[in-house]
Amino acid sequence: MMRVDIFTVAKEIFSGAVSKGNIKRAQENGELELYIWDLRDFSPDPHRRVDDYPYGGGPGMILKSEPIFYGVRKVLTPKSRVIFLSPQGRIFNQEIAKELSTLSHIVFICGHYKGVDERVREYLVQDEISIGEYVLSGGEIPVLVVLDAVARLIPGVIGDLESAKSDSFYSDSMDAPYYTRPADFEGMKVPDVLLSGNHEAIRKWREERRRLYGKGTGFRRS
Ligand code: SAM
Repeated sequence: MMRVDIFTVAKEIFSGAVSKGNIKRAQENGELELYIWDLRDFSPDPHRRVDDYPYGGGPGMILKSEPIFYGVRKVLTPKSRVIFLSPQGRIFNQEIAKELSTLSHIVFICGHYKGVDERVREYLVQDEISIGEYVLSGGEIPVLVVLDAVARLIPGVIGDLESAKSDSFYSDSMDAPYYTRPADFEGMKVPDVLLSGNHEAIRKWREERRRLYGKGTGFRRS
């Protein structure tokens, strides 16, 4: 069982995403306990304000430290890993997803606006993850990316674990290409070997394709 707490100023972004697919299944199966917190609920400000101007001036607003510290402290235990989604973080990949899937408690902090008060990174955050070398408006989509990748690795969450094991990045190679009915669609044919019933030949064909379709090769249209 994994517990996940998410601190955000844009709770509504999560509603559809966590009520579908593997994240929903993980909760239904009792494998994942998920809490999404609105940082405004932890603001000491009478107007529930969570942002302010940066000291020293400059453009953009900064997410204040108090709501984040007050909120996170309420859920923190010695087993928690506090993760800040940040362009400066380690770049997320399948290895990191596997590592996170073994934790019992993850606390995600979603940045917003120009960024968060640096004291959050200095004194509260234990790990920083980036989902790629570009800048998004907030940490909510990055959390969903990370959470989806992690949830499908929790044993019992996806119906067929063998299927996840053949996915790209699970081992060194990428996944093989797949086809389904019809065998001939407007003259575009499924490779004969897949229709042959020869399991050894199919296994070899898939292995060869997995080698051929290396990371980043993508779809090549001639
Ligand atoms: N000023 C910040 C910078 O240039 O590093 C970017 C702030 S961004 C507009 C607001 C928030 O979105 C960040 O604090 C972070 O939580 C999140 N974010 C943006 N891009 C991200 C990425 N590539 N990976 C993870 N989180 C990201």
